Amino acid sequence: MTDFEPPLRLHLDGEALVSNWRALDAHSGAARAGAAVKANAYGLGAREVVTRLRDAGCRDFFVAHWGEAQAIADLVPPSWISVLNGLAQSDLAAARALGATPVLNTPEQLANWRNAGGGRCHVMFDSGINRLGLAPQHIADGALDGVDVDMLMSHLASADTDVAQNSAQLNMFSQAVSATNAQRFSLANSAGIMLGADYHFDLTRPGISLYGGIARAGMEEWIRPVVRLSARLLQVRDLPAGAMVGYNATYVCSKETRLGTISIGYADGYLRAFSSKGMAWVDGRALPVIGRVSMDLVTLDLDAAPDVREGDWVDVEYDLVTAAALTGLSQYELLTNLGSRFARIWR
Ligand SMILES: *Cc1c(COP(=O)(O)O)cnc(C)c1O
Repeated sequence: MTDFEPPLRLHLDGEALVSNWRALDAHSGAARAGAAVKANAYGLGAREVVTRLRDAGCRDFFVAHWGEAQAIADLVPPSWISVLNGLAQSDLAAARALGATPVLNTPEQLANWRNAGGGRCHVMFDSGINRLGLAPQHIADGALDGVDVDMLMSHLASADTDVAQNSAQLNMFSQAVSATNAQRFSLANSAGIMLGADYHFDLTRPGISLYGGIARAGMEEWIRPVVRLSARLLQVRDLPAGAMVGYNATYVCSKETRLGTISIGYADGYLRAFSSKGMAWVDGRALPVIGRVSMDLVTLDLDAAPDVREGDWVDVEYDLVTAAALTGLSQYELLTNLGSRFARIWR
């Protein structure tokens, strides 16, 4: 079979990924850092990420779904993988066979686990985000009796901001910690690591900042970017003043304009929020996105770089903080949207 070369590339910096994990581990103080690798490691590629972080010394990997655990279970001992979204009765036998560790969220899941023979598991305690997890009353009512809890965890709702909810969640979690016989305790995500030692417990669970996300101001000093996007110029043309560009003619050239069309679009996760706001770069020269982002194509104003030619590659602005400010998308959305048509190139 012929291998075609994809006309869009996701350049992934494995050294930066490992450096970010080590830095987050160091900022976790006495706690170890694990790694959230759900959603295909936030769109980067779970197998590539897990392999690198395993080799760097990471021992705890968090996914959301059992299928995601299965997809990496040959890379690490399955017990190192934790499945955040709980365990449905219908998945119980397959889950036990796989050997990844469930994060049990409800009294019913705990009862099913116990009835199936029990064994090591994690438990999510809801300290105020009100999505998944046990309430204090469930623990008081004995939901954890007879269960071998490796890790009691909770999740912060607002760790990226300085609000009273953080200390309220810390207090509520600390009470659950005193009421629970678990081997380990875990509260902080990327942003939570920056809230200080009280939030670290035994294990932290960074996700976004492993991949270059700046979860709180100041982290840009030691978190390195991991992803870079580039796309190939498919066509270059000179348009007269008055020419209309793209769907619904949202851009009309105010002067003669050299226009370039690159191979990326909203089907690749480059959403319409970038329309007439995004930017590409070639040799330090800015090429603004003009007109509406299409499914497979984006149009650029090439006036700043008249020498670029069809077939050349341009870098697409995807610095997470910059792109989030341009579009209103979150850094999480920017990463997890990245589609399957990129050549994912690791170095
Ligand atoms: C996704 C997730 C994380 C990682 O959060 P980041 O904000 O990406 O660091 C940690 N814990 C839980 C329970 C999660 O769902």
